[in-house]
Amino acid sequence: MHEISLCRGLLARVLEIARNHDAAAVATIRLQLDPLGRMDPQHIIEDFAHVAHGTPAQDALLEIETVALRVHCPACGMESDAAPDDPSCRRCGNGDTRILNGAGLVLLNVELAP
Ligand SMILES: [Zn+2]
Repeated sequence: MHEISLCRGLLARVLEIARNHDAAAVATIRLQLDPLGRMDPQHIIEDFAHVAHGTPAQDALLEIETVALRVHCPACGMESDAAPDDPSCRRCGNGDTRILNGAGLVLLNVELAP
């Protein structure tokens, strides 16, 4: 699985934010998970706990928000949510839509402990 490398990258960014603010610990990390990554939030929490062990982020609470797949339809101009296995347009049924989401993990915000 590639969650572990994503978690390492995430940890590096979180620790940099903590360092820049002279924070002793990280309280909460909010993430957005794109649907195409097909990653299990529970795996991310476990992998993050593993890589963050012994760092100021080890007790951080991970809040993971999964967003719907967003598609843009070039035929009718509609932008809508879609199921990952059926990215066709909700309005006109065009199957040739453009997917707007990425397939990654987005760091939304970090709360530092005082
Ligand atoms: Zn359409």
